[in-house]
Amino acid sequence: VPDDAAVRERLLADRAAACTQVEELTRDLAGVFAAAADVATDDEHDPEGTTIAFERAQVSALLDRARRRIGELDEALQRVHTGLYGRCVGCGRPIAPERLDARPSARTCITCATRGVT
Ligand SMILES: [Zn+2]
Repeated sequence: VPDDAAVRERLLADRAAACTQVEELTRDLAGVFAAAADVATDDEHDPEGTTIAFERAQVSALLDRARRRIGELDEALQRVHTGLYGRCVGCGRPIAPERLDARPSARTCITCATRGVT
């Protein structure tokens, strides 16, 4: 099991990256909205309008995911604090180091994850 300091550092680095992503996506979304304001809105079948709607949906989805990720990392940091980090919330057994390495915010072991425990 990696020590708490190393885990926290990794989680905070991932969190910082996710925050940067949220900032960038928020800017992207503002750009998409600005572009939408420029195109004629009186024609719903305007192909450009459709593209903008699609882009807006995509950026929004990415933004949601990045925000959710920050929440997961915050929760993981909280578990480091309470000493529960690296322990599966489903069965209480330790989560495989490889899994934590690939996904530091993992709350469940592979077995529970495949059973649908989140
Ligand atoms: Zn488990």
